[in-house]
Amino acid sequence: MHLARELTLELDKHVALPDLDLPRVIFDEERPPDSADIEQTAAHVRHHWGVARGPVQNVVRLLEANGIVVVRFRVSIEKVDAFCVDFPDRPVVALGSDKGLRDRSRFDAAHELGHLVLHGATGPTGEKATERQAHEFAAAFLMPADDIKSELPDSLDWPAFMRLKTKWHVSLAALLVRAKTLGVMNEHTYAQGWKTLSARGWRRVEPGPLGNPEAPVLLQRALELMDTTGVSFAEFINRSGLPESDVRILLSRDFGERPRVEF
Ligand SMILES: [Zn+2]
Repeated sequence: MHLARELTLELDKHVALPDLDLPRVIFDEERPPDSADIEQTAAHVRHHWGVARGPVQNVVRLLEANGIVVVRFRVSIEKVDAFCVDFPDRPVVALGSDKGLRDRSRFDAAHELGHLVLHGATGPTGEKATERQAHEFAAAFLMPADDIKSELPDSLDWPAFMRLKTKWHVSLAALLVRAKTLGVMNEHTYAQGWKTLSARGWRRVEPGPLGNPEAPVLLQRALELMDTTGVSFAEFINRSGLPESDVRILLSRDFGERPRVEF
């Protein structure tokens, strides 16, 4: 994470990278945000960044366009999908490349954005409450209530859920949860829905894969642009003193692009 930040700061000396524009909405620890607060905060961030109504086209691109560094690498810890470090100049979001699922990866990115917006550098993370808040933020950011509520079915209409998955680029599981939290689906139907997901093995591998996960482009493009100004990669490495092999690993995009075979 430190290397990603250092690399970005060094690149910024050669080419103009997007300024950091991260709206932060920190709540008092005495009065943690409720679901309505989080819904509003997610809407605020979307508005601030000029995201049109409906599905977010590309979450990773949106983060990068607003100065947040995104890297993707193998996270060898089973239970960790993604994490972030809130450096004040260049926050870095790391997405695991292990799963190779576009819907899950988008949700992970939005979850980390939730931490940056709601909890910042000093806030507690990894706790049950903050994890839940980041999850709620991700759901609200990717599926704003005003835009999706009328589209969600109140029954287990799987073809309808599949169509929504394709449109919104979120998982069936995320849609099911959203249908319940927005009060469209009742508890009983929701519980039945989870049973179906489990019974069909959809909690591990959902039908309707959406293709490759979104790929970060900021650092790679910055390097290419720098090259056109006459500063080669080798020269850049030389001047910056950054470890070349680690930088190459960080920039490598040739792994994790394919979905993994699951058993
Ligand atoms: Zn988290």
